[in-house]
Amino acid sequence: MLIVMKNDATEAQIQNVVDAIEKLSLTAEKLPGAQRTAIGVTGNKEFVDQGRIMNYSGVKEIIHVTKKYKLVSREYQQEDTLVEIAEGVVFGGGQPVVIAGPCAIESYEQLLEIAKNIKELGADMLRGGAYKPRTSPYSFQGLEEEGLKIMKKVSEEASIPVISEITSTDDLELFSEYVDMIQIGSRNMQNFDLIQKVAALGKPILLKRGMSSTMEEFLLAAEYILKQGNPNVVLCERGIRTFETSTRNILDLNTLALIKIESHLPIIADPSHSAGRYDLVIPLAKASIACGADGLIVEVHNNPKEALCDGAQSLNFDSFKSLMNQL
Ligand code: PEP
Ligand code: MN
Repeated sequence: MLIVMKNDATEAQIQNVVDAIEKLSLTAEKLPGAQRTAIGVTGNKEFVDQGRIMNYSGVKEIIHVTKKYKLVSREYQQEDTLVEIAEGVVFGGGQPVVIAGPCAIESYEQLLEIAKNIKELGADMLRGGAYKPRTSPYSFQGLEEEGLKIMKKVSEEASIPVISEITSTDDLELFSEYVDMIQIGSRNMQNFDLIQKVAALGKPILLKRGMSSTMEEFLLAAEYILKQGNPNVVLCERGIRTFETSTRNILDLNTLALIKIESHLPIIADPSHSAGRYDLVIPLAKASIACGADGLIVEVHNNPKEALCDGAQSLNFDSFKSLMNQL
């Protein structure tokens, strides 16, 4: 439930309402806005008696949030959430943030070369997997802790913030030390134990949509993170499974645009994992930005033909340059 206060409501009137809510053993959170303050109420399983609250002076209206998600909803917070990773790298601030890099960290030399090139071409952050959740146990699984150490070194040398995917709660300390933003992959979107423990670290999180998840399930997964007290969540539409088999996944731009209406959280698109092939990445990236995406995460490799992971969908430096120019 959301209690919207009048424009001229005084601090004392706002506090009276907060006290009344807390007396009902519910949680009240003041949400100051540009025009007026709202009070978000959580903890209620049923409707709170509207009449009683309306009697308090300064109350303008009460909005019942009937959806399952609350903290992530636009009703709860009208203004866009901004997630700042470093100076000038802000998701949701109007300027798309571009994350680029290889699917997997393969070596120090490889990552440094990619970092320098993508940075020069305008990328804001470097991606790279150290723990790879591969479909086949026989595929390259990543350099693990060594990969994260390489990433930290490259981040410092190339002066670029970094993001990598966590797959196990065993690695929380490593990720807390070595990366600027932690990625929760598609396969772990509903691994609630993992996402709550990552949320508790307080670091910014990139939450990728489960490949067979509905929008509601996606937003509810983000709700777990916000409920943990970590507001620094960026969503990522990375393509969903449908009956169509001609591409790896289908980039669900409907949901991307709908989430901009439904939620205040920033959302970016991953055209690489959606398409599964490099020659669809640029058109899908442009479509995502046209739909309001707050950024992109794109796989870029110094030598896609030799990549240990996802080479078919990786852009080389020339194509990445073309993408940046077109953006
Ligand atoms: C990735 O970004 O490297 C990745 C594995 O993506 P997803 O979780 O979307 O499959
Ligand atoms: Mn990949």
